[in-house]
Amino acid sequence: MWRVFRPEAVTVLRDQKARKSLSRYFAVVEGKLPARFLVCKRVPAKVDLSVSDEELWRAHERGVKEFRKLFADINKDKTKIENLKQPSLSLLDLKVELAKRILRSCHFCERRCGVDRTVGKVGVCGVGERSRIASEFIHTGEEPELVPSYTIFFNGCTFKCQYCQNWDISQDPKGGVEVSPQTLAKLVEVQRRDGARNVNWVGGDPTPNLHTILEALNRCEVSVPSVWNSNFYMSLEAMKLLSGTQDVYLTDFKYGNDKCALRCSKVLNFFKIVARNHRLAFADAELIIRHLVLPNHVECCTRAVLEWIVENLGSMVRVNLMDQYRPEYKAHEFDELGRRLMSDEFSKALEIAREARLENVIS
Ligand code: SF4
Repeated sequence: MWRVFRPEAVTVLRDQKARKSLSRYFAVVEGKLPARFLVCKRVPAKVDLSVSDEELWRAHERGVKEFRKLFADINKDKTKIENLKQPSLSLLDLKVELAKRILRSCHFCERRCGVDRTVGKVGVCGVGERSRIASEFIHTGEEPELVPSYTIFFNGCTFKCQYCQNWDISQDPKGGVEVSPQTLAKLVEVQRRDGARNVNWVGGDPTPNLHTILEALNRCEVSVPSVWNSNFYMSLEAMKLLSGTQDVYLTDFKYGNDKCALRCSKVLNFFKIVARNHRLAFADAELIIRHLVLPNHVECCTRAVLEWIVENLGSMVRVNLMDQYRPEYKAHEFDELGRRLMSDEFSKALEIAREARLENVIS
């Protein structure tokens, strides 16, 4: 049925630019290579989980080095994942343990609230220890290469975007239903076997739920590309835990400067953090960068974001330039955000992308 509604989800399979920038993702979709998290599960973690945080992080560094070697061997067909035994303690087990420890003084994102979420405290995002989801379904509205995408919408978000189009989910961390990693793993397995191209972790934002998502992947036995669909305000520690588990980072690069980010999303130090995380993600896996063009933010945000992408990640990175802004939530309280995008603003955004020489733009 999704082929009828989204024929470009089929034609994208022959799109050379999409295939070039997402070559490993397509290989996992087509069953030619294993998902990254499955490789992570084959790397032994040589440590006792009762030791200090510092010792666990050192073991994590060693595990990541082993992961990189094994990952390269598997990609070159020097090693077959089917021939590798699952170790008694894996790098992914270690990541789950570290995520649970972070939860006791939460710094999954750069707000670094430091609250102990395991004793009922919550930080700015309002998300508790147990994850809650608003919905999960096969999404046919994502980028063509992702469709059909098994998408899981977590309640709560690390941002307070004043125009949020999902505000009923993102600003309601106590809404939805509680979900366990075990249930998520089973749902993912069923949907992948039924033809989903990937599992797509979103919200709100997936970041406050990192512990749940890593544990769900650890319990998942099917090879499915994992897509981290986020505002990219993760802490450095969260980025380290994500490394080696995600096949595609589907990023949302919203603003070209900290002033606009503070005004529109109530978040500090946006640009440096989100730029750092884009560099780390680009070095770790494959990337699709989304940029929603906002009314009256073409020069200050769209231009700065697109030029940064070309300068730092190159011209072939896949960028989805989006024109579907509509004023939602508190947008009408802001002079510049209280209307839809004008067609000449989006034309200007496309012109900036051309001038910057971005070559792989979805629009
Ligand atoms: S994930 Fe939530 S509680 Fe944790 S640091 Fe970020 S906003 Fe604070």
